[in-house]
Amino acid sequence: MKLTCKELYDFMGDYLDGNLPDDVMCVMKTHLSRCPCCEHYLENYRMAIKLGKTCCKQFAEEQVPDSVPEPLIQAILEARKKK
Ligand SMILES: [Zn+2]
Repeated sequence: MKLTCKELYDFMGDYLDGNLPDDVMCVMKTHLSRCPCCEHYLENYRMAIKLGKTCCKQFAEEQVPDSVPEPLIQAILEARKKK
């Protein structure tokens, strides 16, 4: 089994959550160790998740700026309800 870089990107979220079958995890690990580009992507992906969480937390504690469109506020409130 072989993954292209593009396929690997699609699996990235599940990879970080550990939601993939062992053989896929294994293929991804091998690919990542040989492909600097994908390794870099993984790092960025990780960082984005981290930042995303931090941002959400700050956002929840701060006042919502006027420039945020109403549908976005609703979407965020909806997302927070689910947790
Ligand atoms: Zn790659």
